[in-house]
Amino acid sequence: MSEKNAAVGEEVDFFHPDLFVVPENGEAPYLMGYKCENCGKVWFPKLELCPGCWSDLNQIKLSRQGTLYSYSVIHIGQPGIKTPYVVGYIDFPENVRIYGQLEIEPDKVKTGIPVEVISGVVRTDKVGNPKMISYKFKAI
Ligand SMILES: [Zn+2]
Repeated sequence: MSEKNAAVGEEVDFFHPDLFVVPENGEAPYLMGYKCENCGKVWFPKLELCPGCWSDLNQIKLSRQGTLYSYSVIHIGQPGIKTPYVVGYIDFPENVRIYGQLEIEPDKVKTGIPVEVISGVVRTDKVGNPKMISYKFKAI
């Protein structure tokens, strides 16, 4: 899925459409997990079968809030991401750990803080215009 960035007249890619939902009715965005029909374990990202017991998985809506398990402050990043920025692993109540970018200042981040899923720019073009939108996390 992509949409036009009206400000610059370029396409902006919506990344991870099978994992991340931004409701068109304006409700808060959320991530999708994949729950095993047999053992109940939740997986992220999407898998075809449960790696634990080879049973089918059902898509579920994950909680919007989790706890920051660990993080890194990136000073030498990939092109299209302004440095420094923060990435981390978030533990969700469904017992699944998810990696992503955090919209938290490097000097304010610490493990154990509560965070929530947001929609944000995860890549820009060479001059700083939004290029890719996906899930991110912010402190709450
Ligand atoms: Zn299973």
